[in-house]
Amino acid sequence: MTATGVPGDSHQSHDHGQSGNGHHPGQTGNGHHPGQTGNGKVLHPVSGGPIVQLPTAFGDFVAQAWTDLVTGAEHLAVSSPNPPKDGKAPLVRLHSECLTGDVFGSYRCDCGEQLAYALEMIAEFGGTLLYLRGQEGRGIGLANKIKAYALQEAGFDTVEANEQLGLPVDARCYKAAAQVLAEMGLHEVRLLSNNPDKQNRLAKAGVKVVEMVPTEVPSRDQNIRYLQTKKDRMEHRLTLDTHVVTVPGTSADNFDHEQD
Ligand SMILES: [Zn+2]
Repeated sequence: MTATGVPGDSHQSHDHGQSGNGHHPGQTGNGHHPGQTGNGKVLHPVSGGPIVQLPTAFGDFVAQAWTDLVTGAEHLAVSSPNPPKDGKAPLVRLHSECLTGDVFGSYRCDCGEQLAYALEMIAEFGGTLLYLRGQEGRGIGLANKIKAYALQEAGFDTVEANEQLGLPVDARCYKAAAQVLAEMGLHEVRLLSNNPDKQNRLAKAGVKVVEMVPTEVPSRDQNIRYLQTKKDRMEHRLTLDTHVVTVPGTSADNFDHEQD
């Protein structure tokens, strides 16, 4: 069967099709090969819901919730309503949930600013931001992330803090994300990320990253040590050549934390 976007048309191997999985935003309806192995087995089953309008401060988007049928985590795909103008592969941002950064605008990390930047880029050039829940603190959870902050305030860097807690430096899994992208018809993407590991993990899961589009936002006094750690110890492609100076009188402590 060919790409029609009809729910169920590509889920021969799913035995859980009760929830109408497999909706595809019309703008990404190019050929459609959900992430299956050679024998047709779905790597990591996910279920998509209806597509709705999502007008935001960053532009008008469409949104679709996806449930990870293995873990139960619920993710949100936020897409531009129109395909990329120039015929290029769509921009895709895999954004790991970060409550402190995304909601409260914490400057301990760069997540909130990265989220805003990615949405602006996607609104302008076309693509999808996949907001991955259950990935707080690179997968260790909110409470553990805050524990790691406490260790960082005692002098450890973001990698050492996780090691002190006996937790993995990066516990995130991208199989569900790759499956969502595949079911949305996003088989070739331009990835908005500085993290080469994401490219490798998506490739393993069957999503081809044709270009890495950097998302660096200016560093700050509060997050420069964290960003330097990501660059030095986690091989993130950061230049750290722009910096926002902290207003005198505010804390200039250097913090670290976990994320992307
Ligand atoms: Zn963060």
